[in-house]
Amino acid sequence: METVFTKICAGEIPSTKIYEDDMCVVILDINPIHKGHSLVISRNPYPSMGKCPEDVLSHMICIAKKVEAKQREVLGCDGSNILINNDPASGQEVPHIHIHVIPRYQNDGLKFGFTHEKYTDGQMADFGAKLHL
Ligand code: AMP
Repeated sequence: METVFTKICAGEIPSTKIYEDDMCVVILDINPIHKGHSLVISRNPYPSMGKCPEDVLSHMICIAKKVEAKQREVLGCDGSNILINNDPASGQEVPHIHIHVIPRYQNDGLKFGFTHEKYTDGQMADFGAKLHL
């Protein structure tokens, strides 16, 4: 399957690449939450986490760790959000797995727009039992 990221990985459309190897490519996000916001993209277009082989996913996380460290060193950020939007229901726009590495600054005022649910009595234990691996 071809995606905007397969074209970027192949060099068919321009991007600002900051790293590449045989499993992944890291680029700057064109629409950054903060400047330096990076995307660790698998070379093969696995659409979501469930379809991505574990060795590739593990490697991508290790590369995200290096990107995060470099952001701290060069940008002076204080933290980061490391996230994967996983399938369209989560807001994933590009159906090709990628890890966002978003630099964050103390008191930068950003908040994710999630709301929270509350468990009723006993419900948390039920969910825990159902989700136990
Ligand atoms: P997601 O919602 O997790 O699929 O995020 C896709 C991300 O890809 C968004 O943050 C976009 O800004 C970014 N993006 C889309 N097209 C490009 C591009 N050509 N170059 C760099 N980043 C891109």
